[in-house]
Amino acid sequence: RTLPIDPVEENYVRSVSGACFSKVKPTPVKKPKLVAYSADALKLIDVDEDALKEEKQLAQVFSGNVLLPGMDPAAHCYCGHQFGYFSGQLGDGATMYLGEVINKNNERWELQFKGAGKTPYSRTADGRKVLRSSIREFLCSEAMYYLGIPTTRAGTCVTSDDYVIRDIFYDGNAKQERCTIITRIAQTFIRFGSFEIFKTLDPMTGRKGPSFGRNDILKTLLNYVVSTFYPEIESKYGSDDENKYAAFFEEVVKRTASLVAQWQCVGWCHGVLNTDNMSIVGVTIDYGPYGFMDRYDPGFICNGSDDSGRYSYKQQPPICKWNCGKLAEAIAPFLPIQRSREILTKFDEEYERVYMNKMRQKFGLIRKQLESDKELFDTFLNTMENTGADFTNSFRALSLIHLPNTKDFDQSIQLFTSTILDQCCDAEEWKFVNKSAIDERTYELLKSLAGTNRALLSQFGFSPELLENENLKREKAKELANMTNESKRIDDEKAWRKFLDMYIERLKIELVKDDVEKSNSERIKIMKQNNPRMVLRNYLAQRAIEQAEQGDYSEVRKLFEELKHPYTGGDRDTIQLAKPDETATGAEALPST
Ligand code: AMP
Ligand code: MG
Ligand code: MG
Repeated sequence: RTLPIDPVEENYVRSVSGACFSKVKPTPVKKPKLVAYSADALKLIDVDEDALKEEKQLAQVFSGNVLLPGMDPAAHCYCGHQFGYFSGQLGDGATMYLGEVINKNNERWELQFKGAGKTPYSRTADGRKVLRSSIREFLCSEAMYYLGIPTTRAGTCVTSDDYVIRDIFYDGNAKQERCTIITRIAQTFIRFGSFEIFKTLDPMTGRKGPSFGRNDILKTLLNYVVSTFYPEIESKYGSDDENKYAAFFEEVVKRTASLVAQWQCVGWCHGVLNTDNMSIVGVTIDYGPYGFMDRYDPGFICNGSDDSGRYSYKQQPPICKWNCGKLAEAIAPFLPIQRSREILTKFDEEYERVYMNKMRQKFGLIRKQLESDKELFDTFLNTMENTGADFTNSFRALSLIHLPNTKDFDQSIQLFTSTILDQCCDAEEWKFVNKSAIDERTYELLKSLAGTNRALLSQFGFSPELLENENLKREKAKELANMTNESKRIDDEKAWRKFLDMYIERLKIELVKDDVEKSNSERIKIMKQNNPRMVLRNYLAQRAIEQAEQGDYSEVRKLFEELKHPYTGGDRDTIQLAKPDETATGAEALPST
């Protein structure tokens, strides 16, 4: 349905009912400049090599300044559960659908601008994105693709001479930031939240979806999604068959479980796993305050506004399952909840299957699958956690270990040990990590209060568990007081030795009697293909962003080239440790209006 307004001139704050899309137009920008492009992503829409040389033209088109014939921009209406609560209508506030391209290979790809200006869903915000958040999304969507993880793609990143303000500092100064547009490419950008616009009254928040009760449109949307993106399911069932919706839901559940298992295996956190950021085709979507972990910490939170850690690393699998449950509720008129609930139990099986398979490859356990492998993996993770080891580098270091009985075995164990110990954080950082959150006086006060007035205490958000946790941290901190880099290294070595003994025992089962050296090299090859030597660490993105903000895009382009081959290339010069003081996320919040 076309809205009778120019969203650029007038920003309507109203609910759009009875429609899944609203027509819009990109708002042109001054002097668009190409920051970077992904030739591989642009190939999906048949942009050829010659066109890539015309940087000025690329910038004109991929800023939204010049629409190509056939482009018909529209903003998508969706709802979402944000941080556990139903938010009502959200919608594409800063992105817009442009159309679909059927490429030479007869594949269908959808195009989207992000940051091209206001839409009817922008509410009080400006529909713009800035250089830092755009570079972050551009680099990470492509990095995920080259890691082999399902994701939306980024074709271009174009900046301009138009400015917006995002942060106002304590001294009252404001930073002017360049409006920047990325072009995203995916099978579709339809999300779980797209199905929540039909939601009837939510008892918890008193909100409704803008198209509540319109089961006719829900059915159209469902059938469109199944027939377009799940054609094998469509062709197997009749058009209105409940079994069709069951098969569709099962496939979404499985793809989602598989996706989050793959995130876990590279130590990546999404940061905002709301239902409006969950793709209906099971790809990673909407890169905001995401993060790859450096030092392994299962409680890692990459989103500065996620105080409770709802979206922490270890919470991602159960949260994705919870989100699938919300999708089930949204399509309940066509798939009874008793049935979808049963299907949802398959999430855990699929998660476990994908996670275990991936981990076995990362550890080079290819010949046999043992129940006890889980114990080995957990020991590795616990050892990383207890020694403050770097996630990516520790996994990569596993491929240094040769099979027992090979000629280089002893040497490989020595090399692993020294490499892994170098991945552990130093004593100073370790003390900082284990530092208690509350000062001594406050702690004593809270402890005495806890004995007398628990109710008062909990009113201020201090639970008995929190005090218990604080207590543990205090003891740990005391224990660490005399730690030096040397003593930490000795402790770490003991811990890693325990893991090594277990791993070497397990590796004996991998031996093939007749050709030990050959199976060893095959195994190492598989490990290297599954343990990236480099990921998009925050400090790497940050360094590229800072230079880009000075007008120099070479670091963005150089980093992008590196990210294209995360599994191959020299290890020695690319094992990078994160610098803890350089881990600002550079993520962009909604504009402060
Ligand atoms: P996100 O947290 O990025 O998934 O976004 C949540 C909601 O805020 C979505 O409806 C977005 O379209 C909207 N939004 C994000 N950034 C902007 C912006 N700069 N202007 C208008 N709406 C925005
Ligand atoms: Mg979003
Ligand atoms: Mg976002």
